[in-house]
Amino acid sequence: MAHSTPASDGPTRPDGSNYPVVRSEQDWHDLLSPEEYRVLRGAGTEPAFTGRFTDSHAVGVYRCRGCAAELFRSDAKFDSHCGWPSFFTPLAAEAVVLLEDRTLGMVRTEVRCASCGGHLGHVFAGEGYPTPTDQRYCINSVSMSFEAADS
Ligand SMILES: [Zn+2]
Repeated sequence: MAHSTPASDGPTRPDGSNYPVVRSEQDWHDLLSPEEYRVLRGAGTEPAFTGRFTDSHAVGVYRCRGCAAELFRSDAKFDSHCGWPSFFTPLAAEAVVLLEDRTLGMVRTEVRCASCGGHLGHVFAGEGYPTPTDQRYCINSVSMSFEAADS
C-alpha cells in the first residue's frame, strides 16, 4: 500500500469524517515554510537532534503549526534522548488521530493533528520509559508552535 500523506488524503480522517480545517495546497505553501510543509503536509521527518523543542523544558502548551490546535502540554513532555520532542500523552485523546504506517519496512503508528490532518510524528509503546503510559509520542518540532504559560 502506498504511503499516504496529508496532502494526498484530502480533508478526510481515517474514520471518514472531515478535518475541520481545510486549506488548498497553495494556502498551505503560503502559510508554512518549505521545511514545515515537507513535514506537516508531506509526512516528512526533521533530522534528529535538530528541532528547537527537543530538549525544551519550558512550561506551556504546544500547538499545531498548521492550524494552532492545542496538541500537547509541557507536563507530558519527557526526556527520551531520542532526538525529537517526546510526550507520553496528547493533551486530549481527540486532539490527534492515529494511522497505521507501513513505510520503511516497519509497522508504525502515525500521529496527525485531528483538526487539519497535519503530520506530527509517530507514537511508540512499550519501550520501558518510566512514564504513566509507557508511550512515546515522537513529534517533529517543526510541526508545532509553543505558547508559554502565563507566569
Ligand atoms: Zn493542525
